[in-house]
Amino acid sequence: MTTVKHLVVGAGFAGLGMAIKLQESGEVDFLVIEKGSDVGGTWRANDYPGAACDVPSQLYSYSFAPNPDWSMSFSPQPEIQAYIRRVAHEAGVLDRFRFEVALETATWDDEARAWQVTLSDGSGVSATNLISGAGGLSEPKLPDIDGIEGFQGEVFHSARWNHDVDLTGKRVAVIGTGASAIQIVPELQKVVGHLDVYQRTAPYVLPRNDRRYTGVEKLAFRHLPLVQRAYRTAIYWGRELYVPGFTLEPKLAWPAKKLALGNIAKGINDPELRATVTPDYEIGCKRILISNTYYPALASGNVEVVTDGIAKITGDAVVTSDGVERPVDVLVVATGFFTTEQPIAAAITGRTGATLAETWRETGMVAYKGTTVHGFPNLFQIVGPNTGLGHSSMVFIIESQIAYILDAIRTMEREGYSSVEPHLDVQNRWNDDLQRRMQRTVWNSGGCASWYLDEEGRNTTLWPRTTFTFRRLLAQFDVASYAVTGPAPSPTPAPTNEKVSA
Ligand SMILES: Cc1cc2nc3c(=O)[nH]c(=O)nc-3n(C[C@H](O)[C@H](O)[C@H](O)COP(=O)(O)OP(=O)(O)OC[C@H]3O[C@@H](n4cnc5c(N)ncnc54)[C@H](O)[C@@H]3O)c2cc1C
Repeated sequence: MTTVKHLVVGAGFAGLGMAIKLQESGEVDFLVIEKGSDVGGTWRANDYPGAACDVPSQLYSYSFAPNPDWSMSFSPQPEIQAYIRRVAHEAGVLDRFRFEVALETATWDDEARAWQVTLSDGSGVSATNLISGAGGLSEPKLPDIDGIEGFQGEVFHSARWNHDVDLTGKRVAVIGTGASAIQIVPELQKVVGHLDVYQRTAPYVLPRNDRRYTGVEKLAFRHLPLVQRAYRTAIYWGRELYVPGFTLEPKLAWPAKKLALGNIAKGINDPELRATVTPDYEIGCKRILISNTYYPALASGNVEVVTDGIAKITGDAVVTSDGVERPVDVLVVATGFFTTEQPIAAAITGRTGATLAETWRETGMVAYKGTTVHGFPNLFQIVGPNTGLGHSSMVFIIESQIAYILDAIRTMEREGYSSVEPHLDVQNRWNDDLQRRMQRTVWNSGGCASWYLDEEGRNTTLWPRTTFTFRRLLAQFDVASYAVTGPAPSPTPAPTNEKVSA
């Protein structure tokens, strides 16, 4: 059994950033476990053709590790992955990472005031603080289609791309038209014999204002850090301008809608196909995507957009509800991830003996400040409930949460607290306010079904305010919102000093 002060789960932007900031603040007693074989998280897993970020890299990167070498404004996956690897190496934290090990169970031990954790390699860890960076878009969601398990050809999810399969000249089907699919389709269209794209809901796709950075810009980024900082700041504020269109009045987003419809008109001549890919809900209700190549790819001779629902899959074909059978060699499943039901929630058992998944069964995912949960002392989640964004960089949110968690740790050490847990009424007020704000957002009222909403129609994934408000609200660990306990019992049991703050 290993004993550590902080156990961090996941080595994506969240887990790695947490590790770096723990080390910087002198908290060296930590362990990071990652079920994959490398750092990177999303950017390790999603190496499908065409994978790239859709928030400019100047902003979609750590504020404390600017990269003067981004080649493009929206970097391709290999560059982002290389960046994350480099940051990890340069920070000198990797000796405290264990790869190919998953958290299997974590149970709060109220007597020891610690998390007792079992890992997939059979070992155990006891940790004062459990910090989850397990990712909001990490566990692939496979479609429940009749017959899919009997398909004789290759089938793989976009986040588990099988690079051993040569798609040249093959008949390929892509199921889904979300963020990953619209990056994959133009790449596949170039090489496959025929491509069927199965669309349930058409996305809004804006032009991708991508460009290569010039040598002069890169030199300036390297030698004049303030120039790069100014780029980042300008991008940040430009993105915040989207917020009122999402959260107050969808009509404010008309310029974006115009651009999206113009993008269809530019990429597709056929009026029937144009109609097929024109969304019938408010822009922003589902994630807004960016591409210059998606519509031209759909309009090419070897692609068919299929809107009839998939009824079943046979050994070698996809059959739609109208009875049409389309033969296929390879199925690419681009149907997204578990978002409103996080797999790790079933593994974490809190103070009352209920798992996080059980605790959330009635309410949907709820937390305080997207980070801590009543009933789960010393559990900190990065990218927890209602922290996702439709418009800006998740790294900004992640860094805000890391700072909050660090301040919680400092507070605990300074005051001698062995556990902190948000009061239920405080957590309820936080979530009531979020859900009240949510009613006005385009995500809840824009007339679409999306992965932002759970089965009850609650939006438990997105943050409905500006990102600077999020940062301000998490700027300090607000200990008054928490029940705290005094020092943990020593091995020879001593009476505990229960101290509950107002
Ligand atoms: C294709 C794609 C493109 C995206 N593009 C953007 C973008 O342009 N801009 C943006 O802001 N956001 C984007 N996102 C969202 C992206 O997920 C976040 O920006 C960010 O990378 C999340 O980092 P994370 O560390 O929280 O989670 P992740 O990167 O998902 O990392 C979580 C890690 O935890 C590990 N893990 C999970 N469970 C366990 C367990 N039980 N035990 C051990 N390890 C575990 C996983 O293996 C994974 O490596 C994109 C997401 C996807 C899927």
